[in-house]
Amino acid sequence: MFPASPANLLIGATAKAGTSGVVRGIEAATGAELEPAFCGATAADLDAACALAAAAVDPYRALPLEARAAFLEKIAANILEIGDNLIVRAMAETGLPRPRLEGERGRTVGQLRLFAGVVRDGDFLDLRIDRSLPERTPLPRSDLRLRNVPVGPVAVFGASNFPLAFSVAGGDTTSALAAGCPVVVKAHSAHPGTSLLVGEAVRKAVADCGLPEGVFSLLYDSGRSIGQGLVADPRIAAVGFTGSRGGGTALMKIAAAREVPIPVYAEMSSINPVVLFPAALAARGADIARAFVGSLVLGAGQFCTNPGLVIAVEGEGLDGFIAAAATALGVQDAATMLTPGILAAYDSGVAKLAANAAVGIVARGAAGEGPKGQAALFTTTADAFLADRALHEEVFGAASLVVRCAGPADVEAVLGALEGQLTAALFMDAGDHDAVRPLLPLLERKVGRILVNGFGTGVEVCHAMVHGGPFPSTADGRSTSVGSLAIARFLRPVCYRDLPDALLPPELKGEGAPNMPVRRDGTLVRGSVE
Ligand code: NAP
Repeated sequence: MFPASPANLLIGATAKAGTSGVVRGIEAATGAELEPAFCGATAADLDAACALAAAAVDPYRALPLEARAAFLEKIAANILEIGDNLIVRAMAETGLPRPRLEGERGRTVGQLRLFAGVVRDGDFLDLRIDRSLPERTPLPRSDLRLRNVPVGPVAVFGASNFPLAFSVAGGDTTSALAAGCPVVVKAHSAHPGTSLLVGEAVRKAVADCGLPEGVFSLLYDSGRSIGQGLVADPRIAAVGFTGSRGGGTALMKIAAAREVPIPVYAEMSSINPVVLFPAALAARGADIARAFVGSLVLGAGQFCTNPGLVIAVEGEGLDGFIAAAATALGVQDAATMLTPGILAAYDSGVAKLAANAAVGIVARGAAGEGPKGQAALFTTTADAFLADRALHEEVFGAASLVVRCAGPADVEAVLGALEGQLTAALFMDAGDHDAVRPLLPLLERKVGRILVNGFGTGVEVCHAMVHGGPFPSTADGRSTSVGSLAIARFLRPVCYRDLPDALLPPELKGEGAPNMPVRRDGTLVRGSVE
């Protein structure tokens, strides 16, 4: 699949072997080193990639939107053209099963195509035209026009748990390219071969479409200096990141300390509360418990929306839920985790919970052969949860904590004490509406997505999706990393006052481009149609 010394640094159109240290793929199932060794970039490589990205900004954004959309579709086609090699390599590097990775490839290709549609539609430009009012008294109004422009080169750090859909050509890269921003990706060390296969597909699409070479580069980092140097580089205008709270906040500090600070859109840590309301528990507690365990162990629990916390009022209903969850969890096989580091972090998080005097063990999944993560379910009281911040921490993997509440006031107090979250899942029946209603304003302050009678695992990539939330679930709760609104992170509005028609961008000339949405004198219209 790869030569012994792969040309894994893709610096614009140039592919060259790295020369600084080694980034080695590890077979997740066995811990064995995978061939070949991928070598890291140097400071000079980083400088070259950033220089090319900066040079590509104006020519890339000046292209017709159709060319940008066709480029995204070409990336999708080139990824599919890699064929089974991509799945085979990703399976080895991540331990994720074939159906999951095939599904993830479909999502990756699907989101590239979704963003091609977004680009063609032009809505993301947020075109606004306030025509001049020369007769207005006491003061006339000038001609004012607005459109969004891309922010500039974007640095992307892929996720370990989505080697395709949130990595080299994943959601951050796709939304940045759709916005008109060149992208420099720092490959995740957990899947270096997968990263190169996809990187080559993007590089080829750049060439196939005749784009400026600096639109895309891929770098590897054998330490921390390339990733950190990328965020610090004055030519980088924004960062997309998915990973740990420690990694995300480290990059946020670097970005904030620059002479010109830049935004870091980091998706980090979330325990995704599940609230079980009494009528639903009484009617179908055991069914909810089985669905909960299914969501908890999906992908060895390595989802950012994994249900890490369950909140409910004590009673027969909750007892029944816990008993059914224990039965379902007890027969779950131990599962291969993404990396030895993630498995070690999971085991240590589970051991910390087990050692907490205020926490009881409800059930463990079956023990496995070799290095595998064993599912775990714990329980505690609302008082203990409120008194101990350690119980609020994410344990990345198939572990969850049930908080027994004395009454509805405890449910509210526990929710109110939580940090920002990606999702909250509410299990309710019609008889629970009065209990749910007063909690909704609180939940809106705490989370980015509120779900009813379902779990957050398995996100839909669409226009109405929010995959974001207040800190620390993300660095900036005003945005989403999944869905078409993700493009807004990499755009900035510019207003033109009295710029002659001949100098205006095409979509703002005259009455606005035909067939594009424009807010004209305050009314949203499409093109020339009033
Ligand atoms: P990570 O260790 O934060 O790594 C993410 C990326 O950032 C990698 O490319 C990593 O480089 C880089 N990086 C991390 N710290 C850095 C630093 N101080 N300076 C420069 N670069 C840095 O996250 P991960 O390995 O993907 O996953 C580990 C943990 O992240 C999990 O245990 C889980 O808690 C969390 N996680 C959360 C989500 C979520 O959506 N909430 C998703 C996935 C993971 P290297 O490749 O060189 O390590």
